[in-house]
Amino acid sequence: MKKLTPMMEQYFQIKEQYQDALLLFRLGDFYELFFQDAEIASRELEITLTGRDCGFEDRAPMCGVPHHSAEGYIDRLIAKGYKVAICEQVEEASKAVGIVKRDVVRIITPGTLIDTQLLDEKKNNYLMSVYGHKNGLGISYVDISTGELFTTNIINNDWIKDLKDEITKIQPKEVIYYIEDDVTFNDTFLQLCNQFNVVINQQEEWSFEHEYASNILKEHFNVIGLDGLGFEVKDNGIISTGALINYLKETQKRFLGHINKINIYHISETMVLDYSTRANLELTETLRGKTKKGSLLWVLDKTSTAMGGRMLRKSLEAPLLNIEKINERFEAVTILKEDIFLRKELKEHLKNIYDLERLAAKVSYGSANPRDLVALKSSLQRVPLIKELIKDRNILLESIYKRIDPLSDIEELINRGIVDDPPITLKDGGIIKAGYNQEVDKYHKASKEGKEWIAKLEEKEKTKTGIKSLKVGFNKVFGYFIEVTKSYLKQVPENYQRKQTLANCERYITPELKEIESKILGAEEKVVVIEYNLYIELRDIISKEIARIQATASAIAEIDMITSLSEVAAENNYVRPQISKEKIIDIKDGRHPVVEKIFNNQMFISNDVYIDNDCHQISIITGPNMAGKSTFMRQVALIVLMAQVGSYIPATEATIGIVDRIFTRVGASDDLSQGQSTFMVEMSEMANILNCATEKSLLILDEIGRGTSTFDGLSIAWSVIEYISSKIRAKTLFSTHYHELTELKGIIKGVKNYRISVKEDGEDIIFLRKVIEGSGDKSYGIQVARLAGLPQEVINRAKDLLLRLEEKDIARVEGIDIKRAQEEVAVSKEEVNESADSMQLDFNSLYSNNIIEELNNIKLLE
Ligand code: ADP
Repeated sequence: MKKLTPMMEQYFQIKEQYQDALLLFRLGDFYELFFQDAEIASRELEITLTGRDCGFEDRAPMCGVPHHSAEGYIDRLIAKGYKVAICEQVEEASKAVGIVKRDVVRIITPGTLIDTQLLDEKKNNYLMSVYGHKNGLGISYVDISTGELFTTNIINNDWIKDLKDEITKIQPKEVIYYIEDDVTFNDTFLQLCNQFNVVINQQEEWSFEHEYASNILKEHFNVIGLDGLGFEVKDNGIISTGALINYLKETQKRFLGHINKINIYHISETMVLDYSTRANLELTETLRGKTKKGSLLWVLDKTSTAMGGRMLRKSLEAPLLNIEKINERFEAVTILKEDIFLRKELKEHLKNIYDLERLAAKVSYGSANPRDLVALKSSLQRVPLIKELIKDRNILLESIYKRIDPLSDIEELINRGIVDDPPITLKDGGIIKAGYNQEVDKYHKASKEGKEWIAKLEEKEKTKTGIKSLKVGFNKVFGYFIEVTKSYLKQVPENYQRKQTLANCERYITPELKEIESKILGAEEKVVVIEYNLYIELRDIISKEIARIQATASAIAEIDMITSLSEVAAENNYVRPQISKEKIIDIKDGRHPVVEKIFNNQMFISNDVYIDNDCHQISIITGPNMAGKSTFMRQVALIVLMAQVGSYIPATEATIGIVDRIFTRVGASDDLSQGQSTFMVEMSEMANILNCATEKSLLILDEIGRGTSTFDGLSIAWSVIEYISSKIRAKTLFSTHYHELTELKGIIKGVKNYRISVKEDGEDIIFLRKVIEGSGDKSYGIQVARLAGLPQEVINRAKDLLLRLEEKDIARVEGIDIKRAQEEVAVSKEEVNESADSMQLDFNSLYSNNIIEELNNIKLLE
């Protein structure tokens, strides 16, 4: 084996330290990847794999990307879940003895993006850290593109569930973790991360060690003790946060001054929404398409700034529980809703505010370019105007008023120092404004005077020599020159020195011209360096004020969110609900905020709802498929949730008693891909609800028990209702196609029956969409099947069968003895399903009686 070349030796030394990342190794104008990294990158980026002599017999596989366009390539690798280590030349090639020194300057991972196209402007990009100890969990998460850092301790027994709720709320892009050996949920945790497509990095024990983590925190936040940051001694949050900061240190390799505050929260401070409830209620994205359009956020988001958009999203993910806070928000929304001029004016200013949080992060990170600073300046010019507009209004607006720092010193500094339309690059000058620095002015003046002298030279020489075609020009090789066409050569004066001969002209210089030229070029060369240094200095001054910019940014975000809520309230004809301590939900003429928007011109039929913890605790809702049961139930959940966010609601009047959690079990969810049957998913979600709901919760249960045979399903539904009534006492909306359940009214306390009305019109039915008290006894399945376009032949045959089934007068299951009934069911479930499948009809919903026996008979007949 031959010896490695020195450069390759250097490569291996560096690569050794970054085994888990793709190493982008800077060679001249390219970032090169070698060996396995090259194979991966060439495949993922579709770039050609070449080779390079490395000293060995075989050439090293290699591929590369130009450094000036590397960002797009790096983004693609990150989006695919890779870590990328950027290795730069860290000394000037001219000064190097032997091979140029290189080192990794930053590791980019999906959770540590700061300035790329990959960032969604209205969504945070979180890196999460989890520490599992038998005493509880520490969870921390940070968005380094904005500087926000949160942490919580979970001491509950049901960690994995709480963790799942947090992960679905936070939606991190990357998770680092360490779970102690004696904690058993390791596997479940990893599955969870996989399920949500999170990149996971197990860390070594030492970085999740209490003392180490504490020291990291003390060092980063520059404090002597951790109690000042709000931690208690035994907090597992100390460990998860310390490890998080440590990970940032290792990957970002610089001090992250914009991460300067720890927000410690408790999961019980806001409404808890579990994974399936978030998904089912389509809060921020739709269930199927995963798009924002069609979600609640889509209706509510009229924010003008990126920060406001992110804050609104976070607020929807965590509705409030504190009545005072909710009412303060309502008051602020009301003020802006009613004062249309104020709202319009605020919006006008907000529209002109760039993403202050991310700009601040870039400043602190040292990646803000001159245009970013100009964006910061023009945003800051709006801040005092906004501040003035919200003065003396209400408690919340006043607190926001106080939090807004007009930052005029920073605005003034940028305004004084940076030209109004600067370049993006730092290396070509043209950044610093005249009057800011004497030296810059001096060189600019020298260069300007030189250029003016040259501009006049052409006329001067023309007159002097009489050469009409004489021109003064410039090129990179020769600098300034005087050009004379061949026909005038005889008139060329003696002091002209010939420099270059072209086809039909000659180019000359004069000593005087060269002297001026070197003045110009010297001045330009010098001023570029001075401007660069001044710019960095100015940026550093601002980076010391990051905390002030961040405080203002969050105040502006809140104003933006409130403005958005008030605009939506005004435009959509929403009302302010009464928030109450009483345990009632009383909504008059409620509408579904999203469906009514999608409908546009079509009429959406409004409905009332009244539920409490007493005589109206459980509403059993029947009605044919398509009648509007799910829409109605979701609308109640969404209205309650909106109310606790401080948003006006689609109704004419409402009283909402604070709800601690909303649970939904809606329809058959698409968890099949995870290898669980629909029924199994349904039951495990139901189990979760029964275990976690309290009397302050709101339960939305849609067709519980549908996924199994009639008697099984009916019995499960029945006993679930009994349990909710006697043990949990949560307010519940329960839709079902089992008409038998309506008989629970009078038997079980708090049960009321409602149906969604339809009108028969000959063979068809008309959906009236009105929820009225009472129970319906017809399923109208065949009519709905007809509306859906099933062939007439199938419809006729189904009607036929239905008649025969009805004639058989199969006893209605009254006060059923479920055990006995089940014993009567001789046929296996599969057979029933097969039969139903072959008829392409959902017999469960067509007819809910003892269909099983009957199907057997039919089979025999045929
Ligand atoms: P179900 O759950 O009873 O099968 P859905 O709630 O899915 O019915 O409603 C079916 C469709 O009926 C919805 O997609 C919607 O288009 C329409 N719809 C539901 N509720 C209303 C309403 N109150 N006003 C107008 N259209 C409605």
